[in-house]
Amino acid sequence: MFGKRIGVDLGTANVLVYVRGRGIVIKEPSVVAVAQRDNSIVAVGREARDMLGRTPGPIVVIRPMRDGVIADYLTTEAMLRYFIGKVMGWFRLIRPEVMVCIPAGVTSVEQRAVRDAAESAGARRPANLVPEPLAAAIGARIPVDTPRGHMVVDVGGGRTEAAVISMYGIVTSESVRVAGDRMDEAVATYIKRRHNLIIGDRTAEDVKIAVGSALPLEEELTTEVRGRDQITGLPKNITVTSQEITQAIEEPLASILGAIRAVLERTPPELSSDVVDRGIVLTGGGALIRNLDRLISQEIGIPCSVAENPMDWVAIGAGIALEHLDLIRRAQPAEGDFLAGY
Ligand code: ADP
Ligand code: MG
Repeated sequence: MFGKRIGVDLGTANVLVYVRGRGIVIKEPSVVAVAQRDNSIVAVGREARDMLGRTPGPIVVIRPMRDGVIADYLTTEAMLRYFIGKVMGWFRLIRPEVMVCIPAGVTSVEQRAVRDAAESAGARRPANLVPEPLAAAIGARIPVDTPRGHMVVDVGGGRTEAAVISMYGIVTSESVRVAGDRMDEAVATYIKRRHNLIIGDRTAEDVKIAVGSALPLEEELTTEVRGRDQITGLPKNITVTSQEITQAIEEPLASILGAIRAVLERTPPELSSDVVDRGIVLTGGGALIRNLDRLISQEIGIPCSVAENPMDWVAIGAGIALEHLDLIRRAQPAEGDFLAGY
């Protein structure tokens, strides 16, 4: 069988591609380097990310997805074509069946843009779309086929999506444009205010990953941070503690908790009592911040756990979702564009 089935997680921070029978074959940053004189692609993925902040003026490094939606259409399409081409190898002339995830909260125009980009990038028509929280749940092997409420919270780079799912459909969901990137910004702002040190996005993310925690740690961690002294303008090193980062990211974490509360408030009581019984599952790279599950359990009062390899489930779930198209389609709103084809 030459036909390939591919699940794509087109994230703000990372693109993952899952191929049936092979697993996750691509996991790269959603970053593209473009030469401005002719808009040609210089590099895609990891290679392009390593150029961030280091290119000469005529070469720009772009993150074409923002807040979970396409911000730069042509670059997104080029990036998808590159990744799909890489996956197809010798079979690139045969269009693969593709399922791409989109945030549950996006407009039909934004959905259409993703579908169009996937099709121009080589996907068989119609390219299929699946709401991200549903894909995450399917990937994490949550039994979404039953009439039981399951809550998934995906904390990505640009967006946090909290959703209650039952029978392959999203019953209630809430999407906020606060996730990992906002935590990075909060870290940079804090370090600037507190230590007069200016740091870039990459450094802020490194600090967050190195010592960040949603709750104070019993044994505090520290890390060295290099930046530019705001007063002298010269390079300077300082030491930052996990305690400081916990304080720095309080606000973005509060928005994430707010989204979870909002979903629960709108969920019918039968389903929310299922969620209380089964707990909340966290997915997405942002869920890797230390103790986020504990913070949520404490503040919301419902057990919460992080899925194993939380960044992988959306792409895997999208791939598996291709096998359940009818069941998924049945559970989508009639006015929605999801999976509808043309
Ligand atoms: P998206 O779906 O938007 O592409 P991902 O699910 O790939 O996002 O998650 C990316 C986010 O996860 C980034 O903000 C990144 O900093 C964060 N992240 C990755 N690993 C960790 C970690 N170990 N601790 C905290 N945050 C992490
Ligand atoms: Mg994601």
